[in-house]
Amino acid sequence: MSSKPLDNIFERYISAPTLFKDREVLRPTYIPERLPHREEQMEKIGSILATCLKGGTPSNIFCYGKTGTGKTAVVKYVLKHLVDKTRELKIKEPIVSYINCAIVDTNYRVLSQLCEILGEKLPLTGLPTDEVFNKFVSKLDEEERLMIIVLDEVDLLLKKSGSFTLYELTRVNTMLKRARVSLVGISNDLRFKDYLDPRVLSSLSEEEIVFPPYTASELKDILRERAELGFFEGVLEPAVINLCAALAAREHGDARRALDLLRVAGELAEREGSPKVLERHVREAKKRIEADVLSDAIRALPLQSKLVLYAIYLSSRETLDASTGEIYNTYQRLCSLLNVDTLTQRRVSDLINELDMLGMINAAVISRGRYGRTRRIRLAMPKNLLRKLLYEDYRLKELRNFEKGVL
Ligand code: ADP
Ligand code: MG
Repeated sequence: MSSKPLDNIFERYISAPTLFKDREVLRPTYIPERLPHREEQMEKIGSILATCLKGGTPSNIFCYGKTGTGKTAVVKYVLKHLVDKTRELKIKEPIVSYINCAIVDTNYRVLSQLCEILGEKLPLTGLPTDEVFNKFVSKLDEEERLMIIVLDEVDLLLKKSGSFTLYELTRVNTMLKRARVSLVGISNDLRFKDYLDPRVLSSLSEEEIVFPPYTASELKDILRERAELGFFEGVLEPAVINLCAALAAREHGDARRALDLLRVAGELAEREGSPKVLERHVREAKKRIEADVLSDAIRALPLQSKLVLYAIYLSSRETLDASTGEIYNTYQRLCSLLNVDTLTQRRVSDLINELDMLGMINAAVISRGRYGRTRRIRLAMPKNLLRKLLYEDYRLKELRNFEKGVL
């Protein structure tokens, strides 16, 4: 059986020009051979870790900066070259363990992963966390060796599971007789330092390395090198790289965003059968990426915030704007329908501010003369998209009848 419309799609796809020489190069997981504008951070981390080439224990390092400022790339890059160097010099290799706390996000799982790296299998749950830690210590101490532990996005571990692992790891060297541990902590959250126990902080950040946002011109250099590897010659309209760099610099100097813009623009151009990537493809890519980012942020909201957002969605049906009072009334009804605790109006007001900051709604204070001031709130995103995202949450699905006016 042949499907004519599909056939057409496939044919068009095959005959369209290919713009990408190597798409993988433009993905965030790719680590390039050169990292322009990060020489200073690279040298600093490199010289601290170099201690281990002469048998010393490197100081703990703490790296921080906003997302897309090259922290993960630089740390992985330096570690790879460090290991290569030990092989070249035929000296004992450090055990390098890289843990991404966005994925391995509890104390138990981090410690059991460390055990696993040392060849010690543990049950997925069941043991008390401190017992897992003791197992890790005794296994590691079987030999004289250095373990470099990278905890990437460590702020997420702390938020989700508390500071047990960090606390224990920062003082583990006092328990070890033969082995040694060096820590490299990486955080995207600049406030991380505020909520860390000062003792843990001072020991984790013996050396502190800041990753500032990239400027537009730095982003241009980064993009140019990647574009050369990723795209065929001449397929990028000259203004494309400048535009990607300018947009990402406005965001917060985020190289990941700049690369995403370039890759998605290329994909859009290719899908369209365009022989070149044009400025308008970048603008379209920006819209798509922003919608994706917003969608992910909505999916990740806690239930109470989703209910507030849902109340705003419902309240803004007839009139375009809604007042805080209306929203609170609707919110209360939703809570009772779902049998969840109702927060105070004050707290809901805070949640509304958060939603505003996340760019999901616009809240404006309006003066009503002698009646005082009120806030007018409106959605800052397409209603259909919001509706779809909210109903992805099974707890909110039940409220569909409420929307139809059945309940
Ligand atoms: P962070 O960990 O700070 O969020 P990453 O290290 O993951 O940021 O970098 C995001 C993306 O940008 C990755 O694809 C990375 O390769 C790229 N990148 C960041 N800095 C540079 C740089 N100086 N040169 C080349 N690519 C870079
Ligand atoms: Mg990172």
